[in-house]
Amino acid sequence: MKKNPLENLIENLSKLPGIGRKTAQRLAFFIMSMDKESALEIANSIVTVKEKARYCSICFNITENEICDICSNPERIRSLICVVEEPSNIILIEKTGYKGLYHVLGGNISPQEGITAEKIKIKELENRVAQGGIEEIILATSPNTKGELTAQWISDVLKKYKVKISRIAYGLPIGIDIEFADEVTLSKALEGRKPINA
Ligand SMILES: [Zn+2]
Repeated sequence: MKKNPLENLIENLSKLPGIGRKTAQRLAFFIMSMDKESALEIANSIVTVKEKARYCSICFNITENEICDICSNPERIRSLICVVEEPSNIILIEKTGYKGLYHVLGGNISPQEGITAEKIKIKELENRVAQGGIEEIILATSPNTKGELTAQWISDVLKKYKVKISRIAYGLPIGIDIEFADEVTLSKALEGRKPINA
């Protein structure tokens, strides 16, 4: 039996994280009420992101090109790398006016979930540092257990290089997922970063 289109939409929307059946229903009805052009724009942006988006070969940010706009921007401070968990964190940190480069880990170390250091982009970060020219690494992983573990791990790995390592701290509530920090808090957290390898 063929599902009706609205039911199909509700089912697909509820596959998204944080979207329960009720929210999916509300979104589906909203989409139904939108004008066709706006609704198709949403649909097309999903198609585009899947067909065109890829990971930057340097920092693992999401981009349409081999190298992302940030890595290829000559005005960015190339001696400074801010290490984040997910590409979405970059959007947040960009709002603070940060001018350095990034490195996206693709998650945190989590022994319980079987995520070892090899499964996230730590080796790639080390390679960037080993190439030289990097003066400071800011570890902007979340101030929760997994984020702290990851930050500690990275600072251990990078100990042998002549690079300053700092950790965002100030103003971020302990245990928070960085995704939920507002830009003022995050901006203070970046400014008030503390060296952890001094
Ligand atoms: Zn990049």
